[in-house]
Amino acid sequence: MKGNGAIELIAVSKHYGSTIAVKSINLKIPAGAYCCLIGPSGCGKTTTLRMIAGHEVISEGDLLIGNRNVTELPPVKRGTAMMFQNYALFPHMTCMENVAFGLRMQGVAAPERTERAKEMLARVHMEKFADRKPDQLSGGQQQRIALARALITQPSVLLLDEPLSALDPFLRARMRDELRRLQQELGITFVHVTHAQDEALALSDIVVVMEDGVIRQQGTPEEIFNKPRSRFIANFMGGQNIFKGTVSESSPAGTLLGRGPDSFLLPGYGNATTGEDLEFTIRTDLISLGEQAPGDAKNGQIPVEITTVEYLGLWVRIVATTDDGKEITLMKTESEFRQAPVRRKEKFIAYWKPEHAHVLA
Ligand code: ADP
Ligand code: MG
Repeated sequence: MKGNGAIELIAVSKHYGSTIAVKSINLKIPAGAYCCLIGPSGCGKTTTLRMIAGHEVISEGDLLIGNRNVTELPPVKRGTAMMFQNYALFPHMTCMENVAFGLRMQGVAAPERTERAKEMLARVHMEKFADRKPDQLSGGQQQRIALARALITQPSVLLLDEPLSALDPFLRARMRDELRRLQQELGITFVHVTHAQDEALALSDIVVVMEDGVIRQQGTPEEIFNKPRSRFIANFMGGQNIFKGTVSESSPAGTLLGRGPDSFLLPGYGNATTGEDLEFTIRTDLISLGEQAPGDAKNGQIPVEITTVEYLGLWVRIVATTDDGKEITLMKTESEFRQAPVRRKEKFIAYWKPEHAHVLA
């Protein structure tokens, strides 16, 4: 392995003429971490990945891999390997030849090439398919070969651009497990571009959310999901309702938004300015419906009418609308729903425990 796989981007930018695809991003990925870059289409994920790989020139800033400044180095000198979205397998070569290709380029002798390619095929459970051509394989199998081919040169960093997007949902979940297992077995750094929230949450040690060429938030999946920094992150990652209100009282112990029966309490959130507007989130699974709010939810309640009840199998998704037309989404497990079914047009109090509120920047 070529050094360790720690990656550091220091004020890295990419310009295409007058377009700024990536704007001065700073990112540290520890060696052996699984990092997902996620964000809407066009936010700069692929460009960032390609700059790490060396397939794209860095316009400004520095890139360190394994504490070496590799900004000016060609791809083969960086200790990285890339797996492409369309797999890019050589159609005229067998699986074995495809996997051994990188070693042939390095001038490794035939017996060692075969030996190492066999080992790598076994790692991805494809040893039985060594003599097949890519067009004799399913999508999932082609992907395993592409993975084996990328890993054969023992990179310290594997870069993957939307590796699962061509697979059906069942295979996606299986390959997701497989990627995580491989990454942990090999102990190398994976940087994986995706636009799928579930994928980023399931796979990552570090999730990096991008928008408009900048990093909006980075953290563990739990941090990104439960403590979104902004309205954009909360909406993009999903699973949250966003409420707002005007600060009426604030002390180090907490802040109160609004007055009277519909006031919202933000315990533990101090130092707000009276009159300032604040937004906060409550997870869709942490809101309940009832005739009235229990004592511990008195400062987290709002009257609603049910507008949608959608059966999703394990979950039931409920949309409820407030008097001023705001929609609130609630997710109930099917068994919770069966214990307390609700129907369209019924009126309830939606309530939550104030300590579940998370204030947005
Ligand atoms: P993502 O992978 O997040 O969808 P990209 O990194 O591919 O986004 O693109 C980021 C931005 O850079 C987009 O606005 C895109 O149009 C632009 N861009 C990407 N590649 C080029 C290029 N070769 N020439 C000009 N603009 C480009
Ligand atoms: Mg892309």
